[in-house]
Amino acid sequence: MKNDCVLIAGGGPVGLTAALCLADAGIRVRLFEAEPDIVEELRASTFHPPTLDMLERFGITAELIAQGLICPTWQIRLHPSGDRAVFDLSVLEGDTAHPYRLQCEQWKLSRSLQTRLVSHPLVELVFNARASGVEQDADGVRLRVEQDGREVIHTGRWLIGADGARSAVRKALDISFDGESYPETTVLATTHFPFHEHLPGLSNVTYCWRENAGNFSLLRLPGVWRVSIYPPEDAPVEAALEEPAMRAALEAIVPGAGASPVLEKRPYRVHQRIAARYREGRVFLCGDAAHLNSPSGGMGMNGGVHDAFNLAEKIAKVWNGEDAALLDLYERQRRPAAMDQIIAQADANRARMRERDPARRREILRGLQATTSDRDKLRTYLLKSSMITGLRQAAAVV
Ligand SMILES: Cc1cc2nc3c(=O)[nH]c(=O)nc-3n(C[C@H](O)[C@H](O)[C@H](O)COP(=O)(O)OP(=O)(O)OC[C@H]3O[C@@H](n4cnc5c(N)ncnc54)[C@H](O)[C@@H]3O)c2cc1C
Repeated sequence: MKNDCVLIAGGGPVGLTAALCLADAGIRVRLFEAEPDIVEELRASTFHPPTLDMLERFGITAELIAQGLICPTWQIRLHPSGDRAVFDLSVLEGDTAHPYRLQCEQWKLSRSLQTRLVSHPLVELVFNARASGVEQDADGVRLRVEQDGREVIHTGRWLIGADGARSAVRKALDISFDGESYPETTVLATTHFPFHEHLPGLSNVTYCWRENAGNFSLLRLPGVWRVSIYPPEDAPVEAALEEPAMRAALEAIVPGAGASPVLEKRPYRVHQRIAARYREGRVFLCGDAAHLNSPSGGMGMNGGVHDAFNLAEKIAKVWNGEDAALLDLYERQRRPAAMDQIIAQADANRARMRERDPARRREILRGLQATTSDRDKLRTYLLKSSMITGLRQAAAVV
């Protein structure tokens, strides 16, 4: 069996990152993406400090910063009073070269990765190529791929399944994906309306409780605000997506916001799930194929990119002669990070913002304000929410 390369299923940010890390280590890579081009739908917008630290070695961090918005603070806020807890990431200056959140669309990362991969002599990027089956033996792995209306079998030494939440690779290996789907549908809308000119002291990433009602979040990107709205769970989401309903939802946040056109909108359901195993012989799962979490806190893509760096480094070492047992460390390090840090934290963030009781909200806010006014507590809090604690804990696992 020809096994002179690593196969990757999925050309999202995670598969593309794994491809670049491997090629950079001198390993031949073949990546198969089901769609005809990089997917540019409304998804991740937040990059956390360690992800920016990791991507720096490829010169990608500078490109993202040039196309994004640096957010030195983020906040949790009572609306409309404006009472808030502001988390200032500058306390992380000794822990990261990028002590801020960067607001930048995830597809811009994918494009930066793609640019480097298409010109790399060790990389073959194949679009319109859907992975559909996997077989393996002691010598290598065979990936069945639907290409040009026929099935082609590709062989490699290892396979990375980075093919997203519905991963065909995970299904082919019959690895369970246990967890739950949350009941609510979130509606994401983008608008040019300048919320920062109307809500004093607003951070570029703001999670809001609305007085006598539910919650919403405001995430700023260059030139636009993304607003997350949570329509009533007992009403059909189609109604919430209609133009008058969208405008009314924005108008209810700031008078005048409803007059600004809704540029893009997207409903989505949220899940928290984790693959029972990250490795099956010569096959590994990475990113959304391995774990799913609420976007609250912006950790899914970041965590997937961290998976990709971790796994690629181990594959490179084994490729160059280290004991293959090293590959088991990938799951031992990254699965607990996903479960105990990413999924658990995102679930707690979501639950906090869904709190409706005014007294309980004020109590939570007072607790958060006590954290933000104590430098040591703030640093500990932000190390965790910025995913640095999870990475440090993972690195300590041997
Ligand atoms: C609204 C929203 C906001 C979010 N915000 C954030 C945020 O701020 N920060 C954050 O870190 N995360 C965020 N996330 C999560 C983030 O978008 C995902 O975690 C991230 O996209 C995972 O990347 P991935 O490469 O693993 O999977 P994907 O991005 O899903 O990429 C998988 C790729 O595989 C391809 N594919 C699928 N099946 C096959 C197949 N059989 N063969 C070949 N290719 C296949 C797909 O076309 C796709 O291109 C958000 C998600 C949503 C929905």
